[in-house]
Amino acid sequence: MNVATTPDRLLEALAGALGPAGLRTGAEIAARNCADAYGAAPTPPRAVALPRDTKGVSAVLRLCNAAGAPVVVQGGMTGLAMGAHPEPGEIALSLERMSGVEEVDRAASTLTALAGTPLEQVQQAAAEAGLMCGIDLGARGSCSIGGNVATNAGGNQVLRYGMARRNVLGLEVVQPDGTVLRGLNKMLKNNAGYDWTQLYIGSEGTLGVITRVVLGLHPRPEGVQTALCAVPDAASALELLGRLERRFGAGLQVFEAMWSEFLDLATGPLGLSRPFAEPPDLAVLVEVAMGPGEGATEAFAEGLGALLEEGVLADAVLAQSEQDRARLWAYRESPYEYGQLGRVGVNFDISIPRARMAEAVTGLRELRAAHWPGDPCGIFGHLADSNLHYIALIPPDEKNRQGSIDAAVYGLVRDLGGSVSAEHGIGKGKRDWLHYTRTPEELALMRQLKAALDPKGILNPGRVLR
Ligand SMILES: Cc1cc2nc3c(=O)[nH]c(=O)nc-3n(C[C@H](O)[C@H](O)[C@H](O)COP(=O)(O)OP(=O)(O)OC[C@H]3O[C@@H](n4cnc5c(N)ncnc54)[C@H](O)[C@@H]3O)c2cc1C
Repeated sequence: MNVATTPDRLLEALAGALGPAGLRTGAEIAARNCADAYGAAPTPPRAVALPRDTKGVSAVLRLCNAAGAPVVVQGGMTGLAMGAHPEPGEIALSLERMSGVEEVDRAASTLTALAGTPLEQVQQAAAEAGLMCGIDLGARGSCSIGGNVATNAGGNQVLRYGMARRNVLGLEVVQPDGTVLRGLNKMLKNNAGYDWTQLYIGSEGTLGVITRVVLGLHPRPEGVQTALCAVPDAASALELLGRLERRFGAGLQVFEAMWSEFLDLATGPLGLSRPFAEPPDLAVLVEVAMGPGEGATEAFAEGLGALLEEGVLADAVLAQSEQDRARLWAYRESPYEYGQLGRVGVNFDISIPRARMAEAVTGLRELRAAHWPGDPCGIFGHLADSNLHYIALIPPDEKNRQGSIDAAVYGLVRDLGGSVSAEHGIGKGKRDWLHYTRTPEELALMRQLKAALDPKGILNPGRVLR
């Protein structure tokens, strides 16, 4: 069957399989299905398919595969790599009607959810059972657990709980021809042949559609203490990290770095108060779970006091209440307010080997001084995970400068042996830089996998690989 000559028959068949509420076309297509959070101009897809269950997903894929019709998979649309952003003519397969936590198994410490469930709902269900979901990120209210797994999302607690991959025990996936793979494993150990589920984690919707997720849950951390620490430079921050790891072990939950440009934006145009009398070049937001029992705050303060005396820390502000904690987190979350600045962000989510982090920050500062000196920027990130975020804020009518900023920053990443994507994925936004991080042999293997699992190339075409 050829789509170009039989377009209506495909849409009719999809409507037949999904029911009247299951397919939207033309003016019925919601704005949310036309763009993800990358910031590209909205593009309406040919139609939006909204299955209610795995059978519906299977029917959509079977029909589209038979017709050779391209499909873009959509979760919460918070992705920052243009993976779920439609191209004209694509059928958008949205998981938004497949939402709900199906089970929390306390004996196994697992949670099973439909892929379209918002992450925050997953977190709440885990908390209600007295447990904790190891995945957390700023978009928690809108992103879906399926999207989190498809992008192998990271976030603020990777240091303690790992990326999404480390939290997944089982998956249900629909292959492009409609075949349903059910691997809803709940056991920590299961070496029965290839663990095919791993292939789909981080595959950004290019190999199959995730319809159900089984997550391993964790005990809830207790006695969490929060501090904002001033350190002279990246080397001292790494020293601080090592000392905290040795002193508090697995209690260390969060280690978020914010350089002076970032703090200047937060305390200048964004109006937050200055946290330190002497502005540092680098501040680190630290959280440690001290465990149950009295004296957690005192023991934490004592630990930081010792580091102050030794000169590892220049200063520190400790949260004494939940309000204080929110105030300290507001610095780290200030990029969500960059929209107020009347500029657009050129966003980077890069990995740099820890030992070269100081060079990376110096390199970024030198690039800015030479090429975009007038543009404010934010340098921050999950330092313990080798993950740096860089946002250059340029005037909205100068978006054409993005290409040259991309080239400069990704060139630096390549020279330092880093990665062009730490956690947001490749999508279409970073596809042309993938070869800076992956060898020709690795790229060839990725193409072989894509060809084997999606022989007609209908799923998320042009994402990750050209
Ligand atoms: C404010 C904000 C903060 C963020 N913070 C972080 C962060 O700290 N860490 C981080 O990693 N990311 C972060 N992100 C990026 C984004 O939230 C994550 O990439 C998230 O995992 C995407 O989930 P989603 O459901 O919105 O996916 P979408 O945007 O809908 O899709 C993302 C990709 O996954 C594919 N996909 C979606 N659902 C499925 C499925 N069920 N099966 C197969 N493929 C699918 C899509 O085709 C696309 O390629 C942030 C984004 C925002 C806007």
